[in-house]
Amino acid sequence: VKQIIGVTGGIGTGKSTVSNYLHKVYNLPILDADFYAREAVSKESRILEAIKQRYGKQILQEDGSLNRSKLGKIIFNQPAEKQWLEQKIHPYVRQCITSELNHLSTKQVVVVIPLLFEAEMTDLVTEIWVVYCSPQQQLARVMARDQLSETEARSRIKAQISLEEKMALADVVIDNSGSTSELQQQIDRLLS
Ligand code: ATP
Repeated sequence: VKQIIGVTGGIGTGKSTVSNYLHKVYNLPILDADFYAREAVSKESRILEAIKQRYGKQILQEDGSLNRSKLGKIIFNQPAEKQWLEQKIHPYVRQCITSELNHLSTKQVVVVIPLLFEAEMTDLVTEIWVVYCSPQQQLARVMARDQLSETEARSRIKAQISLEEKMALADVVIDNSGSTSELQQQIDRLLS
């Protein structure tokens, strides 16, 4: 693989919209950090076992899968717990992406990593695309998609490195403040 495009941005700014388009129209393989992060804590996984040891079996649902919202509440209020969890999940995600990249033989590949900077994974990619939209649009899109109140949506947005900081670290900045077709035009220009 020659070109590893790392797609990142803020919560709800349009990363999936960008990667879906890259897959559909350009047929590029897409690796998704969120998929591996969910796999990391799937039923009967080593990390889920460690989570159960730490928080007790109330952290699981009846079927033995993780109660994500319960865990979310714990780590949201306790930075040390968040760090503990991330130190388990991030290396797993990194390992999965590295191994997939080693098995791919296409020239280009897209890796969507929402926490590319936070999890210090920039070394995995050869270029960084940051997808952004205005703060008002980001808030509205997150509230609508995840059915959150304004306060909840704001606190999720605030938990990440600011979009401005991410844009400053990007190789390519993609503006998703407009329509989807305006978004697609920018991608077409980047790949032509
Ligand atoms: P997350 O990291 O939270 O999963 P994301 O960055 O992948 O989010 P998307 O899921 O692509 O973001 O987009 C967030 C929401 O905004 C979705 O509901 C999507 O349909 C909508 N959206 C994305 N781009 C646009 C656009 N240009 N115009 C209107 N709505 C949009």
